Amino acid sequence: MYPRVLIDKEKYRHNLKEMLKLNHDNNLTVMAVTKVFCADIELVNICIEENVDYIADSRIENLMTFTCPMPKVLLRLPMISDAERVVRHSDISLNSELETIKALDKESEKQGKKHGIILMIDLGDLREGIFIEEDVYSTVEKILKLEHITLKGIGVNLTCYGGVIPTPETLEKLLEYKNKLEEQHNITLEIISGGNSSNIELLEQGNMPKGINNIRLGESIILGRETAYGNEIENLYNDVVTLETELIEVKEKPSVPIGEIGMNAFGKVPIFKDKGNMLRGIIAIGKQDVEYTELIPYDTIEAIGSSSDHIILDLSGGYNIYNVGDEILFKLTYASVLSLFTSKYIKRVYK
Ligand SMILES: *Cc1c(COP(=O)(O)O)cnc(C)c1O
Repeated sequence: MYPRVLIDKEKYRHNLKEMLKLNHDNNLTVMAVTKVFCADIELVNICIEENVDYIADSRIENLMTFTCPMPKVLLRLPMISDAERVVRHSDISLNSELETIKALDKESEKQGKKHGIILMIDLGDLREGIFIEEDVYSTVEKILKLEHITLKGIGVNLTCYGGVIPTPETLEKLLEYKNKLEEQHNITLEIISGGNSSNIELLEQGNMPKGINNIRLGESIILGRETAYGNEIENLYNDVVTLETELIEVKEKPSVPIGEIGMNAFGKVPIFKDKGNMLRGIIAIGKQDVEYTELIPYDTIEAIGSSSDHIILDLSGGYNIYNVGDEILFKLTYASVLSLFTSKYIKRVYK
């Protein structure tokens, strides 16, 4: 049955083990991030089997679907309205708002639990985190007074919104916060979480500042890519997940539509370049599942457009000869893995 993603579990395991080794050798614990594949249970089970230090996801709906011996971490800042589920289904959450942390404290008391938090500090990427230095100190002071909250540590997120690349200088700022906070309050912060897959290059070059002791990894494990420069990581597979689709039409047609051009299915006026006649194919998958620009064909063919349920291919330059009913395979990007696992129309097969 098509369309489907083929998931190579042993390749995922290999990538995971390599990343665990690199980080453990550098005294960093690893949060294996499962959000891009919607916490697919087969892949979550590999994280459990390989004994990752933490399992992390941005959505509580994903964390609710499994139990595991290691702590579960909620990556996206919790909604106050969701405090009940956050405390019930995660052990630690990333936070930046005192109001939310107070709501988690109240809920933890109700559930007879202690909830751990990592306080996020914004060092310039401008997504989540406390930006003003004074606010970090005053917030920590108040957190330490909450009886049902444990301040597990501090963290930073880079290269997510602003594209800021982690450097030793930037991460040193996180360590300055750690030192000042520990001194001011006579506490030990267990987790100093230095970021995500954009830290891999820094690590491999031996430039990770000592004291950063945790990393949260999603993309590097599933796609074998670091995300500061987009380089492939040596010894890792970049084809853990492959998309398999089926051709439902193969015909020679012009490259430019015939007639007056109005709006397409999405209200935009399309522009075409005349390349003469071409061999065109249609595969049974569309915008509802994935953006065609995020698919990387194995053959020398090109995805040239799509509507909700169809992607149109230029098969002219292909190495293979195609007939209706044939399979077309693609490598994937972060965005296409994300949307394919989210679409309920895409089957999953494992090997
Ligand atoms: C998604 C996410 C990560 C993982 O990022 P990758 O680039 O996939 O490694 C880490 N931290 C937070 C807060 C995230 O939301």
